[in-house]
Amino acid sequence: MQELTHYLNGAHVKGTSGRFADVMNPATGEVQAKCPLASKEELEQAVAYAAAAQPAWAATNPQRRARVLMKLVDLLNRDMDKLAEALSREHGKTLPDAAGDVQRGLEVVEYCIGAPQLLKGEFTDSAGPGIDMYSMRQALGVTAGITPFNFPAMIPMWMFAPAIACGNAFILKPSERDPSVPLMLAELAEEAGLPKGILQVVNGDKEAVDAILYNDVIQSVGFVGSTPIAEYIYGTGCAQGKRVQCFGGAKNHMIIMPDADMAQAADALIGAGYGAAGERCMAISVAVPVGEETADKLIAELVPRIESLKVGPYTSGNDVDYGPVVTAAAKANIERLVQTGIDQGAELVVDGRDFKLQGYEDGFFVGPHLFDRATKDMDIYKQEIFGPVLTCVRAQTYEEAIGLAMDHEYGNGTAIFTRDGDAARDFANRINVGMVGINVPIPVPLAYHTFGGWKKSVFGDLNQHGPDAFKFYTRTKTVTARWPSGIKEGGEFSIPVME
Ligand code: NAD
Repeated sequence: MQELTHYLNGAHVKGTSGRFADVMNPATGEVQAKCPLASKEELEQAVAYAAAAQPAWAATNPQRRARVLMKLVDLLNRDMDKLAEALSREHGKTLPDAAGDVQRGLEVVEYCIGAPQLLKGEFTDSAGPGIDMYSMRQALGVTAGITPFNFPAMIPMWMFAPAIACGNAFILKPSERDPSVPLMLAELAEEAGLPKGILQVVNGDKEAVDAILYNDVIQSVGFVGSTPIAEYIYGTGCAQGKRVQCFGGAKNHMIIMPDADMAQAADALIGAGYGAAGERCMAISVAVPVGEETADKLIAELVPRIESLKVGPYTSGNDVDYGPVVTAAAKANIERLVQTGIDQGAELVVDGRDFKLQGYEDGFFVGPHLFDRATKDMDIYKQEIFGPVLTCVRAQTYEEAIGLAMDHEYGNGTAIFTRDGDAARDFANRINVGMVGINVPIPVPLAYHTFGGWKKSVFGDLNQHGPDAFKFYTRTKTVTARWPSGIKEGGEFSIPVME
């Protein structure tokens, strides 16, 4: 059995707490590795290394720091296949999807190469008589981030790339379910020239998280994961005086207007609803067709597409649309919620409950499900299922449809499918959701824009990546300077002589 490590001060270090989590192969249901769960002391050791290394890194000019990220981009491209394979093996997503996970992180590393430009301060000449005023952005010091299982490459990079570009040291506490890729990323960063101690990986669970939250040296905490934990980390971290940003769960609605191209909308829903087995915070989990006729047409388009989805292990390559979910517990939770949908009266139009894959009977595969005629009060509508289950709620009017999305407690992403520019524009302006797609089902902003939801999908003020990340990982300092007047007679052109 492989025993994974932490990555501290430039070296793989075995866990000393004696506690481990099982890392599963979701396709086979077998335990493939043991992930060490750090104690408070192990976390404190990482903080000590980080605090020792950080001042010199912050004093390194931003261009040199950016060159490390430039090199890291090369190394990520070099090792793309290796990273994707390790990611699929622990997460279960298909290889092309895993490569996309790495790619979306890499793009933020690329963006952070612009750090010298992004960190430039402001200057006012002669703010008063003989007075200049300037502002600069300085690193926070030691920073930390806690990441979820579903994007084990992308989200760590979204955090550590801007953190280190700004001159901070960063301690990553990845998900204990798929910790191998984060460890590989830390190794690559060092190969790219990052000094030891600037990017460390401390594997762990709540104990390591609490050690981060209550550590006085750590200045900021970033979190991505489920909403209850986001709320806990935000509340606790802020009470400890830290800068905190937390991104939580989602229930993303896609509104389908009567004038939409129904085949196009159905294709979009298949990818956005079932891709990565629905384990994406930007997955579309609720379809809201406007009008009975639209709903009937949409369901007719969806059913054959869903029934022909290919579910299987990542080792089957491009022949698979989505893989298993991450753990037996995740599978059981999806099955439980599907049962509540049936019990509470939704119509199960595509029933994936009997799905079995020959040779992979112990894997955590879940067949695709489609519910129709769900209502607002049902658990399948209210809760995040995080599985291959699409729920259709029929609305009679556009106002009813937008009202549904507006009233839901989550506000991560949403989409509208229509040919009507006026409806699309009204939707984009009024909707209280952070990321909006117009005929785009998964509107994940690119690296140079910012990523973040509204409502219970976020706790904190600044978004991930884009210019917000450079604000989150720096503090502004403003200097007002006046110098006593000096001698201004100018140069002497005749040879000085002693008188
Ligand atoms: P999770 O909340 O279970 O775990 C996230 C992290 O928190 C992990 O590192 C985990 O070790 C840690 N953790 C778990 N329980 C904890 C506890 N009691 N105290 C302290 N720390 C704890 O989430 P997950 O299952 O890994 O990821 C899926 C969730 O993440 C979904 O809700 C999804 O919507 C959300 N997500 C959100 C975004 C976003 O940007 N909004 C992006 C990706 C995933």
